[in-house]
Amino acid sequence: MERPTSERLFAEAKRHIPGGVSSPVRAFKAVGGTPPFLVRGEGAYVWDADGNRYLDYVMSWGPLILGHAHPEVLRRVKEVAEKGLTFGAPNPLEVELAQAVKRAYPQMELVRFVNSGTEATMSALRLARGYTGRPYIVKFRGNYHGHADGLLVEAGSGALTLGVPSSAGVPEAYAALTLVLEYNDPEGLRELLRRRGEEIAAIIFEPVVGNAGVLVPTPDFLQALHEARDYGVLLIADEVMTGFRLAFGGATALLGLRPDLITLGKILGGGLPAAAYGGRREIMEKVAPLGPVYQAGTLSGNPLAMAAGLATLEILEKNPGYYPRLEALGARLERGVAEVLGEKGIPHAVNRVGSMITVFFTEGPVRTFAEAKRTDTELFRRFFHGLLDRGVYWPPSNFEAAFLSVAHTEEDVENTLEVLGEAL
Ligand SMILES: *Cc1c(COP(=O)(O)O)cnc(C)c1O
Repeated sequence: MERPTSERLFAEAKRHIPGGVSSPVRAFKAVGGTPPFLVRGEGAYVWDADGNRYLDYVMSWGPLILGHAHPEVLRRVKEVAEKGLTFGAPNPLEVELAQAVKRAYPQMELVRFVNSGTEATMSALRLARGYTGRPYIVKFRGNYHGHADGLLVEAGSGALTLGVPSSAGVPEAYAALTLVLEYNDPEGLRELLRRRGEEIAAIIFEPVVGNAGVLVPTPDFLQALHEARDYGVLLIADEVMTGFRLAFGGATALLGLRPDLITLGKILGGGLPAAAYGGRREIMEKVAPLGPVYQAGTLSGNPLAMAAGLATLEILEKNPGYYPRLEALGARLERGVAEVLGEKGIPHAVNRVGSMITVFFTEGPVRTFAEAKRTDTELFRRFFHGLLDRGVYWPPSNFEAAFLSVAHTEEDVENTLEVLGEAL
């Protein structure tokens, strides 16, 4: 597969944009090579600037559960666009989208719209601190909650050490307010709560992890998370990726969670920038203009993003059969990949929940970030390029989830398995 136009564009892009990209993973640093510059998408497929076609398992990193360029979503966006792109004043679509969100998440008694998942988690943490008057937050290693300073933190050595910044530009004094624990380590969490529970404002977590590759929570870990509430610690389920994906009510519905606050994004905007945070009324009433926790946005709740999100949510709601379908497609892909890799004698652990899937190249089980990091990234690099050169676009890092959409067909999945066999 030749990509001369993408190569030329990438070289030019690097002269003007850091690394040539607007978000780091797009630069293919983990796998090498030139990222295809995409110009069109339809259903489960994308086309690059050289006219090559790919079956897409990135799906813009999650938003496109209905597939690219869904006609009904496009129709609604166009209709709204004709009447003006933004007002900076209340508009009726915000009310409708808030109502749709609450049908999916009855726990979100009040919902505030923002423009990105980063803003949603950042605002939820500010609110948690404002509400509790406590300084510390807890996050889990390998969970990603956007790039707000206090969340760009991984642990130093030992589960209970203070946070150390994982990005330059995050002051250590600030990172020290983030305590980092291992995911799926209920005892580590219980011990921290016993020692310092009273100082902790909130625990933020991915209820099913997608950002370390897929990691599935154990029942005991979920139990330990809920025990945090006995210490007055708020539980923030970061459902930016899983919301409306694992079920219409996301992981909260699927796993029966009882979070105090929930963050949404990705599918919520239907392919345009929209995200939200919300939860118990008593907490959300602390947000300005009702309360003292400030948070604002020039383009927040803009009609275009609200229309795309509303169209997407309404289509999902009207088609409850989509979720079992995604589960069946995912199960087929999981089983098929494991079979192909098994036949070749390649060590693997395929983690999947519904339409989110990761293939780790290590003996399983993979339950923590430490275990995920045992994956053979060189083998992944070859897996990735083997697929890409045969027209299958898998996420360009082993620590990411691949996504199915309702536009993917059984035939697409069977072709992927065939292509994988050839590539190996
Ligand atoms: C993508 C993601 C974010 C960040 O959202 P952006 O819109 O990229 O800022 C936060 N949390 C989770 C779980 C995500 O998957």
